Amino acid sequence: MIVGIDLGTTHSLIGYYSEEGPKLFRNALGDTLTPSVVSVADDGHMLVGAAAQDRLISHPQASVAAFKRWMGTARETQLGPRVFRPEELSALVLRSLLADAEAALGEKVREAVISVPAYFSDAQRKATRAAGELAGIRVERLINEPTAAALAYGLQERKEGSRFLIFDLGGGTFDVSVLEMFEGVVEVHASAGDNYLGGEDFLDALQTACLGDLKLRGDDFSPVERGLLRRKLELAKRTLSQQLEVRIEGLIGKHDIAWHIDQERFAHLADPLLQRMRMPLERALRDAHLRPEQLDEIVLVGGASRMPLISRLIARMFGKLPLRHVNPDEAIAFGACVAAGLKSRNAKLDEVILTDVCPYTLGIDVSQRGEQGHVQHGIFSPVIQRNSVVPISRESSYYPISERQTKLTLQIYQGENPMVENNIKLGELDIPLNPTLSIQQNEVMVRFTYDINGVLQVEATPKISGFRHEIVLQQNPGMLSDDDIRTRLAALSELKIHPRSKQENIALLARAERLFEEHLSARDVLQQWITHFRQILETQDHRLIQEHRQNFSGALDSLETQL
Ligand code: AMP
Repeated sequence: MIVGIDLGTTHSLIGYYSEEGPKLFRNALGDTLTPSVVSVADDGHMLVGAAAQDRLISHPQASVAAFKRWMGTARETQLGPRVFRPEELSALVLRSLLADAEAALGEKVREAVISVPAYFSDAQRKATRAAGELAGIRVERLINEPTAAALAYGLQERKEGSRFLIFDLGGGTFDVSVLEMFEGVVEVHASAGDNYLGGEDFLDALQTACLGDLKLRGDDFSPVERGLLRRKLELAKRTLSQQLEVRIEGLIGKHDIAWHIDQERFAHLADPLLQRMRMPLERALRDAHLRPEQLDEIVLVGGASRMPLISRLIARMFGKLPLRHVNPDEAIAFGACVAAGLKSRNAKLDEVILTDVCPYTLGIDVSQRGEQGHVQHGIFSPVIQRNSVVPISRESSYYPISERQTKLTLQIYQGENPMVENNIKLGELDIPLNPTLSIQQNEVMVRFTYDINGVLQVEATPKISGFRHEIVLQQNPGMLSDDDIRTRLAALSELKIHPRSKQENIALLARAERLFEEHLSARDVLQQWITHFRQILETQDHRLIQEHRQNFSGALDSLETQL
């Protein structure tokens, strides 16, 4: 069984390809979306998902979210007595998802297809693979999120020559991809995006306007109170996706908040963000050599694409309404399941071939001699251009800059800047030269091969000797070595994780503790409820626990609506 996983910044999902098509598994709380949040409980147990999300408020020092942004870096997070790499935090999320899948399937899952943003660099892709290994599974394949979204919409069944644009606006990232149907194959023609633009920025815009209208500043609130205000504004933002206006009210700290906003004002506040969205949209079209009217469909993915102002932007820019019939939170996971089905050689999907693009330019550092003999160093010479369809192999030839040079050092970079200093260095390769030969005779053929999993192989062959030198790039800064992975895998396996059966209770207590932290006025009653529920848990009487859980949960629901 190969599962499909959407390992998202805010939420993660897991599913598989069933007889009837893609199907998602539910977590212990009955949801398909598991918050990508990790927390360590007071007793040392690791928590993932809703309980960890609530603990971000009640126990911020012991909890962490949005670590997908740090994938591919060596950044470490202290949680309780331990520090965690981003791969390890992702591995804990993966483990929790796998436990849900295994509980439903009744069998061990060993392989997965995991989706990654089109903009993920080589290091970020490798970190995602490492997270899979740390979770004890083989990552069969990484699939670009927009490609997954296309599969979820069954776009591979559209007519020949159809062109689609996938518009993915998540919590913190924006991705645009242009796809085309060619001889029954979905081809990705271009991708662009903004790694720092998403639903959270729209929330920031609402918060600024709200505080401005109320003549308050962020500093007037404690961090917990600010979190509460943000929660209310988040709800308001979501309500504005369905209603023309919304009102927020309530006591936050010592401030009595009463604020009102309508869709029109929200659209006005969001205008600078919509303008920022135009750039990647235009770039993707330009790279695919398409005019807006040549697109057959525009597909909306990502929770934040539910905002009506996004559909309006699309209608204005492209002259048509977008497709959005698959739940935008689940579309990528559905596509990952389709890709997993494809991998398991499911007959129904045999004809579909996936094509991804290399999302950045790969090349080497060269020096150039100007007309007056002046040498300019540090120039980026691209070998594989951004948005090339992968797998791809390209060759270019290079010469030493001077006579009697004993070696050529190939410095390999990724990036879009003409100067290497502004790009990311991936590695280097020394090629010995014969100093007795002329510059022309010392020609070196350099071949870059970039595969579907984002692994780059660089081969350099002096033409005259034919002796091949090779480097496969795994030495990205911040990468875990195979040895590191083995040690960390052993250490992670020792972490204590609550069984699934306990998770509903833990999530409920975490929610109550979060409310306790947020609402001074309700502390007495919450304290009583929490103590009572803990006592019930100690009885270990399942029927009694279940009954009290329902009452407790209902009580928290009504308390939360009143506050
Ligand atoms: P994702 O990364 O796809 O989980 O996207 C999460 C983002 O979608 C968050 O910024 C949410 O605020 C946003 N979002 C989810 N549902 C809605 C909605 N109904 N209206 C507006 N934004 C939403």
